[in-house]
Amino acid sequence: MDSKGGVLMQRYEFGKLLGQGTFAKVYHARDIKNEESVAIKVIDKEKSVKVGMMEQIEREISVMKRVRHPNMVQLYEVMATKAKIYFVMEFARGGELFHKVAKGKMREDAARNVFQQLITAVDFCHSRGVYHRDLKPENLLLDEQGNLKISDFGLSAIAESKQQDGLLHTTCGTPAYVSPEVISGRRYDGAKADIWSCGVILYVLLSGHLPFHDSNLMEMYRKIGKAVFKCPNWVTPDARNLICKILDPNPNTRISISKIMENSWFRRGLKSKFSRSGCISTREPILDTDTKAEPSKPTNLNAFEIISLSAGFDLSGLFKGSEPKKEIKFTSNKTAKAIISKLEEVATRVKMKVTKKDGGRLRFDGLREGRKGVVSIDAGIFEVGPDFHLVEMKKANGDTLEYEKLVKKVIRPCLKDIVWTLQGEQQTEETQFLT
Ligand code: ADP
Ligand code: MG
Repeated sequence: MDSKGGVLMQRYEFGKLLGQGTFAKVYHARDIKNEESVAIKVIDKEKSVKVGMMEQIEREISVMKRVRHPNMVQLYEVMATKAKIYFVMEFARGGELFHKVAKGKMREDAARNVFQQLITAVDFCHSRGVYHRDLKPENLLLDEQGNLKISDFGLSAIAESKQQDGLLHTTCGTPAYVSPEVISGRRYDGAKADIWSCGVILYVLLSGHLPFHDSNLMEMYRKIGKAVFKCPNWVTPDARNLICKILDPNPNTRISISKIMENSWFRRGLKSKFSRSGCISTREPILDTDTKAEPSKPTNLNAFEIISLSAGFDLSGLFKGSEPKKEIKFTSNKTAKAIISKLEEVATRVKMKVTKKDGGRLRFDGLREGRKGVVSIDAGIFEVGPDFHLVEMKKANGDTLEYEKLVKKVIRPCLKDIVWTLQGEQQTEETQFLT
């Protein structure tokens, strides 16, 4: 389907092109039901698969689902057709912060205001184990009131991974916002790398130009590596001081977010709403109410599955085939709570003990030794939408045959009523709502 001027799933009427990223086009659209504006990011599936982008897309979906914050573009729903993936998002009416900055430096108060929102949102993401890695004014949008809305998670990581392997991939864009440790390809701390980018952004907001710039790329890398920059004389000493603490080439001595939040320049004019805990997340992690996702730990929401579902393919022949698979994956349109209680019921039936773990995970442990010790199963429940979950169960320990017997005889039949078996034949070629 060509999106331009079209209507998506009888729900959204496409308007003008808002922007074009590396792998996607973003359109303005109207929700036909309530006339509300949304932004829809359209991703070409085939192209993305070709360049190995699916993982990034998966990540963007899961990140946007995981972090909900007033300063982050909210993902409303994900839809897909055979050929395309659509992210329906909150519309940031004010456009890119970049356009504002391109017109010249901002007033100190205004710059600080944006920076406070940026730091608050980034701090919130970090607390959820999410690192942006591609913070730059192009990915910072504004709403009508000039509030900050951070966009472009996940997909941005591709740029970073490309830059890591050297200087050749400069076509992905300017490395101007990337920290020395990321450029040098060392293992790096995502939080510290994001802080660096925030420092570059602060510099740009206050001065109207980049701190590290050189027509010779090698020279530019050198400047970044040593943090060689000059602040224009109109930048006040307090602001300059903070920038210097952030643009510290050594990630170990670079200022932390909590210290930035204590900084007196930063705090000026700060309303109480920017308190550290003042961030709102409307959607809690499924099992653990205070999950701090481990950094680096990927979420298992697999966009491949979402997408194959949407295209009307059968998931994995699950619950149909005769051969039990080592891994059980299914979708459910039940609530997380219902799924969990069903899994607990299953555990009782197979005489296993259930332990709840972080991030929507469950562990089943058998009570009796088998041929290769107790059989254990790891289960994960991943939210795709409020009433749409992916559930994955895998053998974690024990004898495969014993496990498969359990799956075939007890687990699969038990789970039947929470499984939303997708009838491939009922789906039209075009559409299937995902959330
Ligand atoms: P990419 O990941 O391909 O870089 P982005 O998400 O950055 O794509 O979107 C590309 C451009 O589209 C942005 O720079 C911005 O101009 C515009 N855009 C993206 N999301 C929105 C939104 N929610 N509201 C308004 N404009 C948007
Ligand atoms: Mg972008």
